[in-house]
Amino acid sequence: MEAMAYGCPSTSAFISIHNMASWMIDRFGSDEVKHKYLPAMIAMEKIGSYCLTEPSSGSDAAALKTKAVLDGDHYVVSGSKAFISGGGENEVYVTMVRTGEDGPKGITCLVIDKDMPGVSFGAQEKKLGWHSQPTAQVNFDEVRVPAANRVGGEGEGFRIAMMGLDGGRLNIGACSLGGAQRCLDEAVAYTKERKQFGQAIADFQATQFTLADMETELQAARYLLYVAAAKVTANAPDKTRFAAMAKRLATDTGSSVVDRALQLHGGYGYLMDYPIERFWRDLRVHSILEGTNQVMRVIVSRDMLRQ
Ligand SMILES: Cc1cc2nc3c(=O)[nH]c(=O)nc-3n(C[C@H](O)[C@H](O)[C@H](O)COP(=O)(O)OP(=O)(O)OC[C@H]3O[C@@H](n4cnc5c(N)ncnc54)[C@H](O)[C@@H]3O)c2cc1C
Repeated sequence: MEAMAYGCPSTSAFISIHNMASWMIDRFGSDEVKHKYLPAMIAMEKIGSYCLTEPSSGSDAAALKTKAVLDGDHYVVSGSKAFISGGGENEVYVTMVRTGEDGPKGITCLVIDKDMPGVSFGAQEKKLGWHSQPTAQVNFDEVRVPAANRVGGEGEGFRIAMMGLDGGRLNIGACSLGGAQRCLDEAVAYTKERKQFGQAIADFQATQFTLADMETELQAARYLLYVAAAKVTANAPDKTRFAAMAKRLATDTGSSVVDRALQLHGGYGYLMDYPIERFWRDLRVHSILEGTNQVMRVIVSRDMLRQ
């Protein structure tokens, strides 16, 4: 994800969400649901979306209202999901719905197809960045979803969604690191070339110190993310805390590095003729989605204070 984001963070992030949705089916789905969806998803003949956020529940995702009622061997699903990456274009929607009580324990995960009757989409959102991928509201109007499309047991959906996000947050962080590395490399090349006051701007100590700070902060964020990735892979007890810390640091540092790279390009950094402004816009959303960076602090401090 990091290497791909060196070229395009938006495309890399899009694939990371597909990766997360596929992983949830693979890790928690029955053999039946795995065989039904995974071969085409792994071949990327079908692309998956992750549907948690609703118009009135973002950070407080466990308050979601999209309802699913069991009717024979089908769930009947009604409600709306907001900000869905791939919405309107992707074929597979891994969707968190309410089958029981209020709160996280009443949530179940269902796989819903784009072409099931009753599925519709809002207009494509017009965004600051992430222009290589669509974002739209997804609406369910009494959609009949086979009970066999359930991933995990009833009431396990929120836990599954959060476990998906442990990996998803690493990947979003990695997208920020890759994008920021690209802009840092561009800044090094540009400051060696650009001359003002009769010398390369890289010869000013202010520029040198800025580049040194960018490199140091980016490497520090990268190594925290790699440690968090090892913890998620090993299913370590503190994996969620580390994934949240790494996502927060990598995305904030990534945006700050890109912002300084833009500054070092002067007015040219602001122009679309140079690549920096696209990275600046694309990375901005990484501090907001898959849990805002404030919510990352909630997760980290809650875990610290529990002990
Ligand atoms: C381009 C894009 C793509 C997205 N893709 C997806 C997707 O594919 N699937 C999906 O399910 N969702 C997706 N989202 C939604 C995203 O995850 C939410 O926008 C995000 O979780 C924040 O929710 P909200 O926008 O409702 O903000 P709110 O929850 O309303 O937050 C508003 C502000 O309040 C702060 N805040 C909220 N609660 C607290 C608290 N307890 N403590 C401190 N501060 C707090 C937030 O940090 C934020 O600054 C996407 C969003 C965008 C912009």
